[in-house]
Amino acid sequence: MKKVVVLGSTGSIGRISLEVLEDFPERFSIVGLSAGRNAGLLYEQALRYRPQVVALDDESLASDLAERLATFNVKVLGGPDGLAEIAGFPGSDLVVNALVGAVGLIPTLKAIESGKTVALANKEALVMAGGIITEKAREYGTDLIPIDSEMSAIWQCLHSCQPTQIRRLILTASGGPFLNLPKEEFQRVRPSDALMHPTWQMGKKITVDSATLMNKGLEVIEAHWFFNMPPSKIDVVIHPQSVVHSLVELVDGSIRAQLSVPDMRLPVQYALTFPERFESCTQKMDFSSNMMLSFSPPDLEKFGALRLAYSAASSGGTMPAVLNAANEVAVEAFLEERLPFTSILKVVERAMEEHPVIAKPSLDDILGADSWARREAERLVRLES
Ligand code: NDP
Repeated sequence: MKKVVVLGSTGSIGRISLEVLEDFPERFSIVGLSAGRNAGLLYEQALRYRPQVVALDDESLASDLAERLATFNVKVLGGPDGLAEIAGFPGSDLVVNALVGAVGLIPTLKAIESGKTVALANKEALVMAGGIITEKAREYGTDLIPIDSEMSAIWQCLHSCQPTQIRRLILTASGGPFLNLPKEEFQRVRPSDALMHPTWQMGKKITVDSATLMNKGLEVIEAHWFFNMPPSKIDVVIHPQSVVHSLVELVDGSIRAQLSVPDMRLPVQYALTFPERFESCTQKMDFSSNMMLSFSPPDLEKFGALRLAYSAASSGGTMPAVLNAANEVAVEAFLEERLPFTSILKVVERAMEEHPVIAKPSLDDILGADSWARREAERLVRLES
């Protein structure tokens, strides 16, 4: 029986993780749950799953929740320290990190240092500090398991494959809702347009990142760290059907791919049950009717975020943390209608231009770059709006 903590249990991946865990009551017990501000849903989840500990980022909501859960023998933690504490909770074996954004970095490190296996959806942590995370995972002998569908696909394609046999990794991208929208019309895009993803139902931040293609850029950096592959050997291809979840090209030109219907339950389940595989209630591929799968190169002029992410990856050091932080600030400002869609890219690009890179950063350097980029991006948002 694996004892599992789900960080970000009220979010899209967090809720899917709980559904999957619930399908295997004989294999998993849910011992910890966390949320940012959604105390109502966290309360319902606590009643349903009876974890030993829960954490809420908002400290005053956490004390209200503690009162509501007083008779249920659940420990309630609050604030960033509470999130770090639940990540290292001694009664768990596996931590699912389904947090969104930079807030996922410290809990990831805490879970690794506490010897937990980490199933990681939170790509921003790897983008910011992939070198430190992967080094720590080696030092503590802990496994980092990918949840992101593209990472899971590559990971599955790499099973039984020698590093010397790999020519390149190929990440597929749906292209998002604006794949066929002329660039001149981007200036009219509103949050409600950007939140209409054609193939995936996800949290708001990743959905906007999919519309700018920044999500794919973050995944290039994520794949670089997950699979120890230089960014120059990680390509992106547009595949609107989201059926081929990514590919690996071997040195002889043979290509391995992983296919399935677009449903995050599948990569989440495999991350949780690895190395075993079990039946899943996801819809299966149907080859009895015609199906078209198409692939085309990304338009880097139209989707400049991808170009910026490659540039941050090749600069390395603190630059990916700056890319990530500026993007988080700009996306939030866009969602709050304080920033036009087209200015997301401008804010990130300007912040990167103004950042003096630290080549071999410590954790403090990365956190410092993150804070600097947030302040700088807020300033740039005010100029752009
Ligand atoms: P959501 O926005 O749906 O959920 C985020 C979770 O993090 C929520 O539980 C939220 O709590 C919590 N949270 C947010 N801010 C804080 C904070 N400051 N402190 C503590 N907890 C916080 O995100 P997604 O599930 O869509 O994405 C999660 C991660 O998974 C992202 O890194 C994303 O890129 C990645 N991913 C997501 C996919 C998807 O299908 N959604 C696919 C592949 C990767 P609250 O509800 O209280 O706000």
